Amino acid sequence: MIIIMLGAQGTGKGTVAGLLSEKLGIPQISTGDIFRKNIKEETELGIEANKYMSKGMLVPDDITVPMVAKRLEMDDVVDGAILDGFPRTIEQAKKFDEMLAAKGKKVDLVVNLTTPRDEIIERILTRRVCSNQECKATYNLIMHPPKKDGICDKCGAKLVQREDDSDESAINKRLEIYDVQTSPLVEYYEKRNVLRKEEISSRINRLGDKVASDLIEYIKESV
Ligand code: ADP
Ligand code: ZN
Repeated sequence: MIIIMLGAQGTGKGTVAGLLSEKLGIPQISTGDIFRKNIKEETELGIEANKYMSKGMLVPDDITVPMVAKRLEMDDVVDGAILDGFPRTIEQAKKFDEMLAAKGKKVDLVVNLTTPRDEIIERILTRRVCSNQECKATYNLIMHPPKKDGICDKCGAKLVQREDDSDESAINKRLEIYDVQTSPLVEYYEKRNVLRKEEISSRINRLGDKVASDLIEYIKESV
């Protein structure tokens, strides 16, 4: 089964994708993670991708699409995958459809995670990351605080706030860009009748684990 996760920053998209991956026994494929790994290992792909990522731009399709295609060739994907961060554009979505069709597969489900804007901003403002580049664990002062104030549970390094996480207008701008980029994808998959909207919000007491278990139930019944 091929599942695509859509959702702005701060919705908990990665968390839900991880839970679904665990429960369904299929891998989570995060293009952002693959790029970051390549940057860390200073591969050719990483060096190229970093030119765009460091500017907050999308990595061009001629790098991104073959990278995903290669990942889909790996053995662990036979039963499916959960895509997190791909596709990001209509062009990528079309190429992805072609890639899957060639393997006799298709997109089975697209989950669109939504959280009220002010709640996302609050979550991002209270987000802290480990300053140790090897660790990079993330915390939230409200939902997932570290055991010791300002210190990473995993490695003991200092926790910091990402610079772009501290400026509310910058966060708003990022969220607006996300909406503009993603709404065509929402439409694209809506037309194919594979889109499912899931609200993920603490206000309705519906966070990642609840959303994931509801999705599992839905998948078992209908997909
Ligand atoms: P963010 O939520 O900050 O966008 P990601 O980890 O999803 O985090 O992506 C980080 C960066 O990696 C993006 O800003 C972009 O430069 C690049 N990237 C990730 N996925 C894609 C994609 N599907 N197409 C192009 N670039 C991508
Ligand atoms: Zn750490």
